[in-house]
Amino acid sequence: MAEPPYFISLDEALEIVNRVGLELEHEYVSLDDAFGRILSGDVISKIDDPAFDNSAMDGFAMRHSDTLGAPVTLNIVGEVQASSHNSLPLIEKGQAARIMTGAPIPPGADSILQIEKCEITAEQVKILEESKPGFIRKQGENLKRGQTSLKSGQLLTPERIGLCATMGHPQLKVQTPLKVAIISTGDELVPPGRDLKPGEIYESNSYGLAGLVRAMGHQPIRMDSMADDIEKLRNSFNEAARECDVILTSGGVSMGEYDLVRKIMEEEGEIHFWRVKIRPGSPPLFGLWNNTPIFGLPGNPVSSHIVFRMLVAPWIREVTGADGPIETKVKVKLATKVKSTKDCLTLRRISIESTVEGFIGHQVVHQGSGNLASIAHCDALTLLQPGQSAEAGDWIDALLI
Ligand code: AMP
Ligand code: MG
Repeated sequence: MAEPPYFISLDEALEIVNRVGLELEHEYVSLDDAFGRILSGDVISKIDDPAFDNSAMDGFAMRHSDTLGAPVTLNIVGEVQASSHNSLPLIEKGQAARIMTGAPIPPGADSILQIEKCEITAEQVKILEESKPGFIRKQGENLKRGQTSLKSGQLLTPERIGLCATMGHPQLKVQTPLKVAIISTGDELVPPGRDLKPGEIYESNSYGLAGLVRAMGHQPIRMDSMADDIEKLRNSFNEAARECDVILTSGGVSMGEYDLVRKIMEEEGEIHFWRVKIRPGSPPLFGLWNNTPIFGLPGNPVSSHIVFRMLVAPWIREVTGADGPIETKVKVKLATKVKSTKDCLTLRRISIESTVEGFIGHQVVHQGSGNLASIAHCDALTLLQPGQSAEAGDWIDALLI
């Protein structure tokens, strides 16, 4: 078999991963459980919104023509609350009705004046200004019944969930979350909570990756971390491929003797590429294990997060048709020099200060790929192209995360 592509650009890597699709399923959830899920199907409004003409202000409803010579005094003929609908007063020439925000417009009225501009004296009201037709919210001005307001693939944010309720939907058809197996590998790893013996470190990648998966609306299945042992890896890969839609591993994909994820994938899996020109994060591997897509992420904690955001997340959005969550690209002026690399897209962790001049980027902490604090506390990642020098004062692209 031909050698898989090696040390390729991020764009080439994305093109290769995007050739692998997944079968998607759907289910129904209540609005209470919809946050962070992905719509599977368009959402159509069951009603006109607003459902009836109503007042945008607390104040008085009246005939605009009566107020052309304001100040004028009108006779108060009733009161309309948000829930009133029957027995609305008829507003005739020279009359006005007290009206609350959201209340239906009484017949005869064509405008509103807010309460601050009205002086009430017993059964009359002095109208200090011309009334405003624009303070009437018209039936259907936001949404028409039958109108598609949300599209299949949209991530359900709090605002979109509210919109679904407004449109009259108690439950939504959403994608069944992808089951994403997370397997961390390394003899040295122990779960936090235990005392460390010499040479051991706390396993952190699986927790961070699980959060990233969940933030995309999918279901992480965090498996126990694996010793560097071919037999155990094979068993856990087989189990993950049986139970899950996607496999993420961390560690064991570099050039070392104990980098067994790479080794087992070379001997028993199907590798579609190995190594990508991004720094940090250059050693990732992608392929199939028993027909299940598998991303071999680097063990260095910062690298595992960055490879997820740059490679795994775009692929998940692509195969699910999801419109988010997505990082925003912005222009940033560097306060300090940032070291780039000759052949890789360089993703340094920077904090961002918003100024009248625009965003100013500071590289504040030690940038080692083992320093998880550098990504835990940053606002953005630099997008320095291979060989792009970046001096203090240079404007560069960065990704807000
Ligand atoms: P590897 O890619 O296996 O060579 O690991 C690279 C570095 O990342 C080593 O210092 C490992 O100890 C560390 N590392 C690997 N996996 C994890 C993990 N799951 N959590 C924290 N650190 C890890
Ligand atoms: Mg290792």
